[in-house]
Amino acid sequence: MTPLPKLSIRLKATLSALLAVSLGILVAGWLALRSLEQLELARLEATLIVRTELAAYSLKPKLSPGSPLPPMQGERESLHRAASEIARHALARVTVIALDGTVLADSTIPATADASKLENHRSRPEVIQALSDGRGRHVRKSDTTGVNTSYFALRIDGPSGAAVAVIRLGLPLTTLESRIGDLQHIAVVARRIAGGALGERVASPSRDEVGMLAESINQMADQLESKIQQVSEDRAQLLAMLSSMVEGVMVLDCQGRLLRMNPAAERMFGLRSGSLSGEKIDRVIRHQEFADLVRQVLASREQGGGEITMGPSGITLRIEASVTDCQRDDEACAVFVFHDITALRRLEKVRKDFVANVSHELRTPLTSIKGYVEALLDGALSNPAQAEPFLQIISRQADRLNLIIEDLLQLSQIESGQVHFKHEPVDLNGLIERSLAMIKPIADKKRHLVTLALPPDLPPIRGDEERLGQVLTNLLDNAVKYTPEGGRIEISGRQIGESGSGQVELCVADSGVGIPPADRPRVFERFYRVDKARSRELGGTGLGLSIVKHIVEGHRGTVWVEGNDPFGSRFIIRLPIAIPSNATSQPLPQA
Ligand code: ADP
Repeated sequence: MTPLPKLSIRLKATLSALLAVSLGILVAGWLALRSLEQLELARLEATLIVRTELAAYSLKPKLSPGSPLPPMQGERESLHRAASEIARHALARVTVIALDGTVLADSTIPATADASKLENHRSRPEVIQALSDGRGRHVRKSDTTGVNTSYFALRIDGPSGAAVAVIRLGLPLTTLESRIGDLQHIAVVARRIAGGALGERVASPSRDEVGMLAESINQMADQLESKIQQVSEDRAQLLAMLSSMVEGVMVLDCQGRLLRMNPAAERMFGLRSGSLSGEKIDRVIRHQEFADLVRQVLASREQGGGEITMGPSGITLRIEASVTDCQRDDEACAVFVFHDITALRRLEKVRKDFVANVSHELRTPLTSIKGYVEALLDGALSNPAQAEPFLQIISRQADRLNLIIEDLLQLSQIESGQVHFKHEPVDLNGLIERSLAMIKPIADKKRHLVTLALPPDLPPIRGDEERLGQVLTNLLDNAVKYTPEGGRIEISGRQIGESGSGQVELCVADSGVGIPPADRPRVFERFYRVDKARSRELGGTGLGLSIVKHIVEGHRGTVWVEGNDPFGSRFIIRLPIAIPSNATSQPLPQA
């Protein structure tokens, strides 16, 4: 699963709110648009009717009743003047139309022009309606002005009740159209904001209701933008925190479905990053004790905890579970935090084993000493033939106790960093010769053939000569010990890589009893022996290889054991080559 693939609940809530608000804006925008359009039209029409009635009132005296023909030149001019005057005050186009549709006067044409030359208006819908019903109205694009216009026509009747003419006023819809345009713009912007373009704003058009609506939308968008930014920042911080945590974190809903898991938890459970969200946790992690813990926490809604060990990996996890006060089934209900305590438990085991081993190792010679001392006290002391071998055994066991304690002390000193390794160039030929000289008497006694295969140009290594001597002595001592009489022991060396960055590899090989492959990595543990009885019989403490490993690693080196061909063991050490120019300037890490 991706680190945190699902949207946080808070973000989800915000986005739902945003969606709802956006939908609201759209619906409200549409409704506002429609109602404003209707309102404006009604308002315009009312104004238009009043103005037309006023115009009719003032133009009526200028119209000769029953005259179907265009008026005379003088009358026409006077009618035109009056129409233009009314048009100026009424902010509308004023047209006077004869019953046959001839235009008698029109405020939009110059005074000098002949209105009767204008297109016959008989077929205009508002004129037809006015002639038949007394009043007529129509909204369309004017042929004369080219502007969308709302027309209102009023039939003028003479004293006899017969129609005289039709007075028509036309109000251009430019204001209304610009307001509707503004609203449409608002609707478009609102739609974009709803679509996620939170930076969009309405260019505030006017100071009227439309302007106020635009202002409100802008304010709301500002708030949404800042809220979303805040939520996004919170989310980013939360994700960063969760992703960088060493502890595993897992969030479940009330049904035990996985809502979220951080990368540490994925690693602990060996899960690939992928979308496991929404899966039941017992399908994702198949572990009985964990499943029981989840069930118990979800059922009791109380915090809990425990410790589990994962199957093949052997990882030990301490779990702390806390619950939230969730309301819904799909909300975060329980948070599980996992601490990897594998190393801690392993250390505890090593410590316990060590204490048990030390007690055992010390008790064996002590029991022996005590037994022989009691035998001496019981009378053997007065029998010199018995007393002497008993005393020799006591002395040997005391030596052994001493040896174990010395090795233990040395190990604990290296481990606690009290031993400071020197870092000087060490000539390996000299070092190996001195170590060989120490074990030669016992090797000779067992008639071993010891050979040395070192290239003459082997570079010096960097380290502590005395400690490295101890490493070689321990390895050679073991080779002699664990090889039956008349065996072969070979010491070889070679350079690996360039001097400066390279290493020297030393190998102590024997034709002895060998070490089974399964025991090989463990022989470097304290007190680990392949054959306990044989080791004790040969005077071993079980600490020699542990000391070797500590010293080698303290020199930034490595040590391991392989099987020798056809039998026996090969202990291999790699140590860094000394850098000639500043050989003593680089301190070595302390074990
Ligand atoms: P010990 O004092 O018992 O020799 P070490 O730590 O030196 O303790 O070695 C641990 C164990 O590793 C030994 O008990 C022995 O079983 C095995 N071992 C070490 N070196 C050899 C070797 N050269 N051949 C066979 N077994 C070995």
